[in-house]
Amino acid sequence: MSDYQHRARKRFGQNFLHDAGVIHRILRAIHPKPDEHLVEIGPGQGALTGGLLDSGARLDVIELDLDLIPILQARFATRERWALHQGDALKFDFGRLADRPASLRVVGNLPYNISTPLIFHLLEHAALIRDMHFMLQKEVVERLAAEPGGGDWGRLSIMVQYHCRVEHLFNVGPGAFNPAPKVDSAIVRLVPHAELPHPARDPRLLERVVREAFNQRRKTLRNTLKGLLDAGAIEAAGVDGGLRPEQLDLPAFVRLADQLATLQPETSAHGR
Ligand code: SAM
Repeated sequence: MSDYQHRARKRFGQNFLHDAGVIHRILRAIHPKPDEHLVEIGPGQGALTGGLLDSGARLDVIELDLDLIPILQARFATRERWALHQGDALKFDFGRLADRPASLRVVGNLPYNISTPLIFHLLEHAALIRDMHFMLQKEVVERLAAEPGGGDWGRLSIMVQYHCRVEHLFNVGPGAFNPAPKVDSAIVRLVPHAELPHPARDPRLLERVVREAFNQRRKTLRNTLKGLLDAGAIEAAGVDGGLRPEQLDLPAFVRLADQLATLQPETSAHGR
């Protein structure tokens, strides 16, 4: 290993895992096997990377911080079946790694400042991904795994659950990291559906309806969706316009989006 001491950088969201028990628990949850293809986002100094490589799986890692590249190269110099990509995971084309559908297993103790846009970026490649295991801010995991009716249910829950089954696996306290973050963390498993349980005619319209609805989550749907759907159209979708957005489940949002598609035939398209 190099003598170089890397100082954690806040702007890269660097909180390095140092608790061996937590690292093992994460690796056990992922349970990588030799014939699999893993992708690790933000390997940092390699806390998870070594265990992932021990499985014998093929591994691609994507790290933004230039200073960490020589550290990773030195630490894993003797390992085979791994490739290091220096760059921004938000701009990374995951399609170039996959040779068949549902083949990539994506993992990472993610920089918390980019976790939501990164999940949305990965969902664009959902068909290529078998599963994802992420360390995230606990509050974000609670929103991902939320059910309708509560304060955590919103755009993130709906758009991620549209594509994936979500499992909140376990929580991790700040002491497992160096430096310790100010928030609690949690491990989440996201498994893209082989077939969407509630496909929308046009997923972009679902995105639009959900964003509009939750712009003002305290108002009724009749009010928040005024610019998109009138009271009659909401009713035609089988939805009570007097409800608030957080009271609606995913199938109801899909019905609203499909109703909007009937009013905007030129934008409707099939697809994920
Ligand atoms: N996996 C390591 C661990 O558990 O100790 C590091 C986790 S640290 C929370 C997040 C890592 O993601 C850092 O190494 C950081 O440099 C890297 N990172 C930050 N932004 C990134 C981006 N846009 N693309 C790829 N890696 C990024």
